Parts: sequence; structure tokens; C-alpha cells
Amino acid sequence: MAVEQTLSIIKPNAVAKNAIGAILSRFEAAGLRIIAARMLHLSKEQASAFYAIHQGKPFFDELVDFMTSGPVMVQVLEGQDAIAKNRDIMGATNPAQAAPGTIRADFADSFTENAAHGSDSPETAATEIAFFFPEGVCVRTR
Ligand code: UDP
Repeated sequence: MAVEQTLSIIKPNAVAKNAIGAILSRFEAAGLRIIAARMLHLSKEQASAFYAIHQGKPFFDELVDFMTSGPVMVQVLEGQDAIAKNRDIMGATNPAQAAPGTIRADFADSFTENAAHGSDSPETAATEIAFFFPEGVCVRTR
């Protein structure tokens, strides 16, 4: 077990249904700390760059349209095994396969509008954190 940082996004559909607090509560209840956060409305350029790995896939345009359809809340979560823990709390990418009680089971509206994003490896976590927090993340907690 290692202390990790991971990038989490509350996607536009979950922000629209006023679920920011409910979702952040789940991270905190699981022992993850929110060590950086910002709310923003992604441009097409930002969303396309963030999801560049999916460029050319059939769902790419729909994904970019969705991610730019309203504000998102972006945060860095820190804790033991934060990357896997966050993905467990989110549930499967396809909400139809997400376990009951997970964020995606409770707040997704479709495969694309699946409520939350979480980094999938230490490498992507570092890249994604730098994407949204280029100034770095530096907090001390008691
Ligand atoms: N997505 C989609 N259709 C697909 C696969 C993915 O709309 O067939 C969307 C969905 O919003 C997903 C995002 O693209 O969260 C990124 O996909 P990825 O496979 O990286 O899943 P994640 O890491 O978000 O679970």
C-alpha cells in the first residue's frame, strides 16, 4: 500500500444534478483527502486534449460535447491506494455494469454521461494532475 494522488473529475451531468457534495462525501468517507480542487467549464480544446488518447474512437465527439456541456469540478485525491480506491468508489466505466452503491451506479445517465472520472495509473495520475494544476499541489494537513 502506497500513499498516492489521483485526479478526479465530477462530470457535467453530476454537477447539473447538484451532486458535488454527495460525491465528495464518498471520497472523504473512504479516507481520501481532497488536497486541491477547482471548478471550471472546459473548452473544446481542453476536453479534446484531456481525452486525446480516445481521439478517433466512435464516442470521442460525443464525449467532448458532453464534457464541455457545463461546469465540472476537478480535484486531487490523496490517500492509501488512492488510484484504485477512487476507481472502486466510481464503479465500472459502463454504468450498466457498475456495482450498486458506486458513484456511476447512482449518478450516471449513460455510458458517456457517467458522472465521474478517475486516473487509471500512477503515470496518468501525474499527467492529469499536471494538466489541471500546473502550478503544482502543495498542502499540509494536520
Ligand atoms: N466512453 C464512452 N463510450 C465508450 C467508452 C468510454 O462514452 O464506449 C466515455 C466515458 O465517459 C468514459 C470516458 O469515455 O468515462 C473515458 O473512457 P475510459 O475507457 O478511459 O474510461 P474511464 O477511465 O473513464 O473509466
